[in-house]
Parts: sequence; C-alpha cells; structure tokens
Amino acid sequence: MARAQWEVIVVGAGPGGSTAASRLAMAGVDVLLVDKERFPRDKPCSDIYGPFGARTYQELGVYERLLEAGYRYPSVILSSPDYTVISGPNQKGLTCPRRIGDNLLKENAARLGAEVWEECWVHDLVTEDGQVRGVKAKYQGEFVELRCKLVIGADGSHSWVAKRLGLFRDHYDQVYLAGRAYFAGCNPPLREVEVHYDPGFTPGFVCLSPHPAYGEVVNMGVGIQMSKYVNSALNAEEMVRKFVAESPHGAKMRGARQVSRWMGWRVPSAGQIGVNHAAGALLVGDAGSFVEPFILEGVASAVRSANYAARTALEALEDDDFSAASLARYAEKWEAKMLPQLKALQGMAVTAADPEAFNQAFQSLKDNPEAITRVFGM
Ligand SMILES: Cc1cc2nc3c(=O)[nH]c(=O)nc-3n(C[C@H](O)[C@H](O)[C@H](O)COP(=O)(O)OP(=O)(O)OC[C@H]3O[C@@H](n4cnc5c(N)ncnc54)[C@H](O)[C@@H]3O)c2cc1C
Repeated sequence: MARAQWEVIVVGAGPGGSTAASRLAMAGVDVLLVDKERFPRDKPCSDIYGPFGARTYQELGVYERLLEAGYRYPSVILSSPDYTVISGPNQKGLTCPRRIGDNLLKENAARLGAEVWEECWVHDLVTEDGQVRGVKAKYQGEFVELRCKLVIGADGSHSWVAKRLGLFRDHYDQVYLAGRAYFAGCNPPLREVEVHYDPGFTPGFVCLSPHPAYGEVVNMGVGIQMSKYVNSALNAEEMVRKFVAESPHGAKMRGARQVSRWMGWRVPSAGQIGVNHAAGALLVGDAGSFVEPFILEGVASAVRSANYAARTALEALEDDDFSAASLARYAEKWEAKMLPQLKALQGMAVTAADPEAFNQAFQSLKDNPEAITRVFGM
C-alpha cells in the first residue's frame, strides 16, 4: 500500500460520497474515496435521481452523461388512498439504474482528482484524544489504518461510521422498509413515474419507475413504515401482489413478468434526523438520515448534504480546526437550506398515517401547484 495519509477520507462512493469527494477534489483537497464494493455495483432503489440533485450534477460536469445513460421522464403521477390523482411535469429528475448512474458519479469523482479505492471495507475509526483521525479498513487482503484530518461518513443506510460515532438512529416510526424488483412486458409501456399511496401501504407507497432505454423494463418499488411492517400479516412481496391484483393503478402491471429478484433495505427518513457531526467527522446522506420523508427520496438529499459537508470541510481545512464546535457549521448549513423542506415532507408523512386526513390534505395540495413544485420539484 503506497499511502496512508490524506486530508479527507470519504467512506462510501454512493451519490453522497462521490459528490463530497468531487467537490473537495475540485477545490484541490487531497481526498481519498473508498467503497467496500467493486463498481459498477447494484443498490436497491427505485432508480430516481430526483430533481433537487440536478444542479450539482451539472456543476460537477456529469449531468449530460447521466441523461445519456438514463431517462428523463415527462411527468410524475401521485395518487392518494382514495385514488385521487395529482400529476405534474418533471423538471430535471431522471431514472437510471443505480448500477450505472452511481458508477458514473464515482468515475467522475476520480476524473476530478479524487483518489478512489474500491473493495476497501471500513470497519472502525481511528480516534485520538476524542477526535476522529482516520479509519481502519481491509484493503487488498490487508488490515490497514488510513489517516486524515476529517472523515466524511457517506456509507449509507447501515453506516458503520455513524454507529462508531454513536450517531446511528433507528426509530421504527421514521425508518422504512423499501424493496424493488424489475418487470418487463408492461402493456402499454410506462413513460411516467408513478407513486401510489395505496390504502394497503399507508403510510407508504408503491412506486413505478420506467426504464425505456433498457428494454422497456419497469422498476416496481415499495416503501412501508417499519413499525407498520413488523406488525403486518403480509410480507412486502405479498403486499405488492395485492396492489397489482386489486388497485386500479396496479392494473397496468398485471401482464408484466418479473425479471429480477426483490431486493430490500432500510430507509432512514429525516423524521429522525439529528446531530451529524463529531470531532473529526461528518455524516452525509443515508448515514445521517437525510432521506426525504413521505416520498423517501434520498439520492438528491445525499447529494445536497454532501455539498454542505464539502463546504464545511473546506472551512475547517482553512482554519485547521476539526473540533466538534468548528464542524457544527455543517448543521447550520443543512438546517438552513434543507430542514424547511424536510419538515414539510415530515408533516405529510405524519398526515399519511391517517388515510382520511391524508385524502383531505391531498385534495388541498391538488389545488396548490406552487406547493407541489416546492415539495416535489415538479
Ligand atoms: C428499495 C429502495 C428504493 C429507493 N428508491 C429511491 C429513489 O427512487 N430515489 C431516491 O432518491 N432514493 C431512493 N431510495 C433511497 C436511496 O437509495 C438512498 O437514500 C441513497 O442511495 C443514499 O445515498 P448515499 O450516498 O447516502 O448512500 P448509498 O447510495 O447507500 O451509498 C453508500 C455506499 O457506501 C458503501 N459502504 C457501506 N458500508 C461501507 C463500509 N463499511 N466501508 C466502505 N464502504 C461502505 C456502500 O457500498 C455504498 O456504495 C430508495 C431506497 C430503497 C431501499
């Protein structure tokens, strides 16, 4: 192993980690981006790169490549438990299999100057005098200690970094079980992204996300609150089957055939967001529970939190101060810029637990296109 010291180490090369590493590399920072997987790697997801991340992809010079690899759907359809429908034009969101889109983001980080190590599994933090000073990892068959001034934990929903910092949160009302499988042969072919808050799932939904560029495949996903799921008589797959058989919105999937297995994962919504900094460390994306409640989109919020983490890192490097007090500037940034929208969506998630109240709220949202654009970006 050639090196063991960097200015910043980013753990996890998903959208959050790749963005943080890209921003830092662009600013001339000596940054190492590590991931336990070999890319291209899969990630259970409905494959929607939401519109709120688009500006960052443009600034990082990767948006056009994402567009080429993915699909810019024309509009989004949302439906409530009483089957009321809201639809609106899509601005800049796109669907792209995560295996492909995340690989582009990771490659782009390397192009911008980040050093990237794949198959590098971080299992612990190096801590001295109460401050994080690096990570312990297994890389190329060896256990290694990698040192730095700042660790950015972007290691996703099951974050080891958050666990080691004592900042991992797992409140079953704010964590969702989400899964997805790919289907082919949908007739007529799907073009729009659809999110159905079906009565069988509240507070949760079924999401249909088309990939016309990949043989007319449709990604069917499901998200359901963990506290509801653990008490449910049906498992997620059975719930989806019921949706397809019984819901008017499921009808279009009745002739489709499943072409992949179901993959599921926990989704930590920002309903449980809290402290995401410690001496020598910051958490972004799922590691910090940044997923947008109600719609459960976490790609764009991982990217946005990574932008604020990178800015905080630059300030800390400038001051040569990585204390918790110095890194609290991260909280000031994401709270000012992200919290209002996250709170609005959390309000919707709370309302969604009561189908009657949700139907009413949905009706008033229907008459308020400005609110729809502000909250959903469409
Ligand atoms: C079924 C499902 C559907 C979803 N659909 C959508 C959707 O359509 N749109 C949307 O915006 N969000 C969706 N989400 C949420 C979204 O997938 C996440 O919010 C998003 O991936 C978070 O990005 P991230 O960079 O924080 O983490 P991730 O994308 O999870 O990336 C984390 C990376 O860290 C690496 N890693 C983990 N542990 C270690 C370790 N110990 N050492 C080194 N590397 C490590 C992983 O290999 C991974 O590459 C969905 C989630 C699920 C489960």
